[in-house]
Amino acid sequence: MPDPSPRPKAEDICPRPASIPENIHSHAPPIYPASVYRCESTSQAERLLAGEEAGFVYSRDGHPNGAMLAEKCRELHGAERAVMCSSGMAALAAAALGVLKPGDHVVASNQLYGRSLKLLVDELTRWGVASSVVDTCDLAAVRAACTKQTKLVVVETISNPVLRVADIGALAQVAHDHGAALLVDNTFASPALCRPLELGADLVLESLTKVMNGHSDVLLGMLCGRAAWFERIPGTIGTWGLSAPPFDCWLAWRGLATLAVRFERAADNALAIAKWLTGRKEVTAVHYPGLTTHPDHALAQRQFGERFGTVVTITLGGDTPAADRFIAAARRVPFCPSLGELSTTLSHPASTSHRTLSVEARRALGIEGGTLRLSIGIESCEEIKQAIAEGLAAV
Ligand code: PLP
Repeated sequence: MPDPSPRPKAEDICPRPASIPENIHSHAPPIYPASVYRCESTSQAERLLAGEEAGFVYSRDGHPNGAMLAEKCRELHGAERAVMCSSGMAALAAAALGVLKPGDHVVASNQLYGRSLKLLVDELTRWGVASSVVDTCDLAAVRAACTKQTKLVVVETISNPVLRVADIGALAQVAHDHGAALLVDNTFASPALCRPLELGADLVLESLTKVMNGHSDVLLGMLCGRAAWFERIPGTIGTWGLSAPPFDCWLAWRGLATLAVRFERAADNALAIAKWLTGRKEVTAVHYPGLTTHPDHALAQRQFGERFGTVVTITLGGDTPAADRFIAAARRVPFCPSLGELSTTLSHPASTSHRTLSVEARRALGIEGGTLRLSIGIESCEEIKQAIAEGLAAV
């Protein structure tokens, strides 16, 4: 029987303006802000929603800009699957909710980003998941913390703010010996420096908010790994509403196009700046894995090669007042508590990322009132030195 009310074609609803020829193929990808997509039939709707046919129905479950960006991230990490989330924290939540169940146990690095620790310790405890927080630079401590219930070991490739480097291959071995998976937060490294899956990790998390997008104008996260880990995760993202918005995905897709050149330039600048800061009288400590004085220098060389990341952390003599004088005088190095921007910025861990820790706990992590984390940008190295020198002159 003929359909009594044939569905109108897309062109009937939203006619193509006569000035746009039919054969246009824009070089830049379009943005698809649509929250919902048309289905041709009930059977197609079923196939689309079951994932048996490629396409989109409801943007909380997927959209073209998210799919494009995920595919690019998948390639960059050499992963079988990649999914986008609305932030780095949403990606961690998706991993935890998609992989863990009550009764499981997590081993978390004591140097994880503060909110990650809060999620893995405070939040997961409420859902019946136990956790142990250990120094993951100490492999024996990680081994001792693992139990039969351990399902996830969580570390950062390069930690914040003293830039300790995780031995990903060795940690993967410890996790696998206990039947657990290694989840690596690769945000400080990005795939331009490190591809943790190749070193044995099972899942990789990136906050694209930082250097992967690189322009401080999106909040986005990504999870990737082997397909076996992604049985539940995509459904978890849609069900808990952790999905990434199309426009942010479009912007980050554009940002990613320059990741390799931005990272190379900023990492080269960072090494030069770290060397230049070493031995300056105003500075009592310089943390950078590219310096031979850094405790993980040999590991960083083995794992990363000739570059060591874009963040340099320094401690000024004179505690918080010295940090405040630096911040007030270094007008060209804005105090923005994030990282991975095109231009050089700084953060003050004691008053931002690590403010909830006691002075003693901060000191144990190498953080003083005078500690400043510099996110080095792609300006000329001379320009960055002058900008930092203006701050140092006031210390
Ligand atoms: N992981 C690291 C290492 C971070 O520094 C941050 C944020 O600062 C996150 C994860 C969380 O990412 P987002 O801010 O995109 O949620």
